[in-house]
Amino acid sequence: MHADLIAALRSHLGPKGVVTDHETLAPHLTEWRGRYSGQTPVMALPATTEEVAAVVRLCAAHRQPITTQGGNTGLVGGQIPQGEVLLSLKRMNRIRSVDADNDSLVAEAGAVLSAVQQAAAESNRLFPLSLASEGSATIGGLISTNAGGVHVLRYGMMRDLVLGVEAVLPDGRVFRGLKALRKDNTGYDLKQLFIGAEGTLGVVTAASLKLFPRPRAHEVALAAAPDATRALALLHRMKEATGAVAAFEVMNRLSVDLVVKNIPNARDPMPGAPMLVLIEFEGADPKGLRQAVESALEDALGVGDALNALIAENAGQAKDFWALRERVPGAHKTEGAQVNHDISVPVSRTPAFLEGANAAMETLCPGVRIVAFGHMGDGNFHYTAMQPAGSDPAVFPAAALSAKVHEIAVALEGSISAEHGIGVARREELGRFKDAESLALMATLKRALDPERIMNPRALITP
Ligand code: ZN
Repeated sequence: MHADLIAALRSHLGPKGVVTDHETLAPHLTEWRGRYSGQTPVMALPATTEEVAAVVRLCAAHRQPITTQGGNTGLVGGQIPQGEVLLSLKRMNRIRSVDADNDSLVAEAGAVLSAVQQAAAESNRLFPLSLASEGSATIGGLISTNAGGVHVLRYGMMRDLVLGVEAVLPDGRVFRGLKALRKDNTGYDLKQLFIGAEGTLGVVTAASLKLFPRPRAHEVALAAAPDATRALALLHRMKEATGAVAAFEVMNRLSVDLVVKNIPNARDPMPGAPMLVLIEFEGADPKGLRQAVESALEDALGVGDALNALIAENAGQAKDFWALRERVPGAHKTEGAQVNHDISVPVSRTPAFLEGANAAMETLCPGVRIVAFGHMGDGNFHYTAMQPAGSDPAVFPAAALSAKVHEIAVALEGSISAEHGIGVARREELGRFKDAESLALMATLKRALDPERIMNPRALITP
């Protein structure tokens, strides 16, 4: 990298806007689980959209690639630089405006999700995106990866929550698309170019986001299901009976056992249950919702869709139910060699996926341990295959197992990445599993917007 580029960045951004010392850079160069690490001589920290544009123009002039980073919570390595200029949006963290009468707000890319939720709540509104990293994940990253989380069932993915986007294009021009309209049929929906694009077509600098009424009634239930087929029946029963299902999360037996084993003070509210299901409901009428949930769960117990069910009696207990689910991802890290997946299939085919994948894993690796959990209501499982207990991690056939999981998901008309994105981790699989026409169309867009390939050149799209 040219020293004169760093000098030019400094002159445009001032001393606060350029970091070159190792200590300050270090936390930005490793992913939080330690799976990806990288390097760069410089991190640019622009404070305004105009400064972002200046950074991009300077880099374009030097043909210097850029890796953009939000809260550094990504799971597929797309935010970690390998010699590129690291562009951090964290100084652009303002909520620019809240328009409660339009049920919208405008947040800058570096605004942390929890701050946006808070700003919405202060105007008696809800911003419904909710995920484990909400205390650090930023709006720009959540848009660039089209984040999911636990309320997709009711409110959709990040894509569904974005009304407008402001972004700096790869040549430094600014796309000003922040209009907060529900209806705007004036041609291509250009903001969509930047949602889920993983920073490859430009840098998101701000967004208009959709707000919702705050639900007045709220219930959380925990149920035991005999198997995935019954869990799916339970999902539909609860949807039809209450019209209020906001989240439907499942945890297989082993995922709960490992929480109890590896997380201090965790306990299993339903020991022995083959599958635990956490269901969240949102409605308008507290008394009516409670009655509907109670009677629907009674019916489910009667027909055997559930073996056991508990409804949280207060906010503390609801929090405990959620805590169990939220502890699952962190509870199996120490269990030796493993390979993780974030697949989706049509909701109707979730039992077929689990049955097929579990059987195939066992055939390829007898004794393999499976942690399957996540957003069954969206057709999305986080599916981890782990080495048999006590076996040699060096002989664990991770690549073969992983290929099989993806084959099974795709054969069921599913996806190899439901909500984490492609980044650098899934690029090879993308080439294998996405159809040729879609890949060609993606490449056409990339060439049109970023012919010099300076924007996140290692993520998502291979040259
Ligand atoms: Zn998830």
